[in-house]
Amino acid sequence: MLINAEHLLQYQRCKRRPVLDAHGDRPQRAAPNELLLKLQQDKIAHRMSILADLSDNHKPDFPRGDWKAGASATLELMQRGVTYIYRGVLLANYQDLANGEDQDVSLCCEYPEYTFLSRPDLLVKQPGESRFGDWMYVPANIELGKRPKQEYQIVAAFHAQVLTKVQAKIPETAWLLLRSQARNYTVDLSKWIPQMQGILLEFLQALELAEPPEVFISRQKCNLCHWYNQCYAIAQSQQHLSLLPGVTPVRYHQLRALSIHTVESLADTSPVILENLPGFDRTVSPKLIVQAQSVLQKRPFILPNALPREDIIFTSPVEMYFDIEAQPDLDLDYLLGILVVDKQANTETFYSLLAERPEEEELIWQQFLDLVWQYPHAPIYHFCAYEVDTVKRLAKLYQTPNASVRPVLNRFVDVYEQLTKSVVLPIESYALKAIARWLGFEWREKEASGAKCIYWYDQWLETGDRTLLEVIQSYNEDDCRATRNVKDWLVEFVQLNLV
Ligand code: SF4
Repeated sequence: MLINAEHLLQYQRCKRRPVLDAHGDRPQRAAPNELLLKLQQDKIAHRMSILADLSDNHKPDFPRGDWKAGASATLELMQRGVTYIYRGVLLANYQDLANGEDQDVSLCCEYPEYTFLSRPDLLVKQPGESRFGDWMYVPANIELGKRPKQEYQIVAAFHAQVLTKVQAKIPETAWLLLRSQARNYTVDLSKWIPQMQGILLEFLQALELAEPPEVFISRQKCNLCHWYNQCYAIAQSQQHLSLLPGVTPVRYHQLRALSIHTVESLADTSPVILENLPGFDRTVSPKLIVQAQSVLQKRPFILPNALPREDIIFTSPVEMYFDIEAQPDLDLDYLLGILVVDKQANTETFYSLLAERPEEEELIWQQFLDLVWQYPHAPIYHFCAYEVDTVKRLAKLYQTPNASVRPVLNRFVDVYEQLTKSVVLPIESYALKAIARWLGFEWREKEASGAKCIYWYDQWLETGDRTLLEVIQSYNEDDCRATRNVKDWLVEFVQLNLV
C-alpha cells in the first residue's frame, strides 16, 4: 500500500480522515465543492508563479500513476544534476525510513507492506556529497499559507526522509515556500524528523485497526472534508458530544476520562467537577453544562452569569445592520452592506455599497461614512468582530480623520458577543446561519456562504458575469436581515426572562 505526504498532512488535522481515504467506501465521498476547487486553483497559481522564476526546471516524464517509472525518471534527472526538479517521484519502504540516523530501528520490520511515496514540489540542487557526485538535493514545498505551520514542517520532514534513501545523503535542510513576504522558511529537520516518525507510526497503527478512529465533528476541519456527510450522520446518530458547541478535543478527552459520554450525563454534571480540569475554568464549566441542558430540553436558557439586563442590548428609533464581504487574497473589502431600519418613518432600506473593481474600495468606504453619518445616533449592529476590524483597517488605509471614524466605531454593537454572553441556544453552532435558521430565517440563496462569495467575486472579476454579483449582494443583504432577526429575538428574550 502506498503512503504519501497527503496522508500525513490529513492525519494531523483529523486521525479519521486518512484512514477512511485508505480503507473507506469511496462512493460515499462527496465531490469537491467550489471552495475546495478554488483552494486547489489558488495553490496551482501560487506554484506556477514560483516556477516562473526558476530556470533549469524539469518535470519527470512518466505514464500517469506509474510511480516506479516516475521514480526512475526522477533519478535520471538527479543523476544529470539539473538545478530544479518539479514534482519528482521518490519511493522508499518502511525499512529505508527507519534506517536513517535517529531512527527507531525496532520499527523497521513491522510494516513491510507499506511503500512511501514522496512528491515534493521541488527538489533543489545544492553543493554536497551524495551518491550522484559532488551535489545533492533538498526538498522544497510550496504552501498557500503564510505561516510555517507544524503540519507543513512534518510533511517537509517526510520528503527529506524519503529523499535520504534515494540520494544516500540526509539533506541538510528542507524549505517551505510560503505566501508571506519572507517566503522561504528553513525547516529544522533535527527537530521535525523524529516528530514525523512518531506521527507516521501512529498512522500506520491506526491503519491496522478494524475500525477507523472515532468521529469528532469540528466545523473548521470538517467543512472541507469529502467524508463530512458520512461522519456527520454517524455523529448525529450517536448524539456525539462534539456536536455540542464548546466541546473541543481537549475538553472531550477530559469528559471521557470522567465517563461523561452523552449530552444527558453532561447536563447532569456539577460545574465544580469540571472547573479545574485542563480546558475548563469557572466560566466554561457552567456554560457547557447549560449548553447540554439547552440541547436536551430543546429550548434557550439565560446563562447563570449573564450580563446585567441593561448592559445587554439597546434599541433605537433608527437602527443600522452592517455586514461585509471580503476577498482576503486581495486584501479587499468589496461589499459594505447596510440595512437602515427607521421605525418612526416605518421604512427599511438596504444599501449595497459595492466595489465592482478592487480599486473602488476607497469610493465605497467614503459612501459608507456618508451614510452612517446621516444617522449620527443610530446603533450599528453587526455579527462578530470582522466589521470593527475592517472599519479600523479602511480608516488607516485611506487616512480618514479619527474624528470621522471614532464616533462611528462607538456606535457598533456586536450581536454575537451580546448573545453568547447572555444566553445558550439548542443549536450545534453559534454561526449567524445556525442561529438565524433556528429562529426560522431563511437565506434566499440556499447554497451561498461567505467563503463561496470569495470564489464568486473572483469569478466575476475573471468573467464579468453580473449574475454572480447579484447573488453576492442578495446573500449580503440577507446576512444583514438575519443579524436583525437575531438582535430582535435577543432583546425580546432577555426582556422576558432576565430579571
Ligand atoms: S468529516 Fe471531520 S471527522 Fe470525518 S473524516 Fe472528515 S475531518 Fe475527520
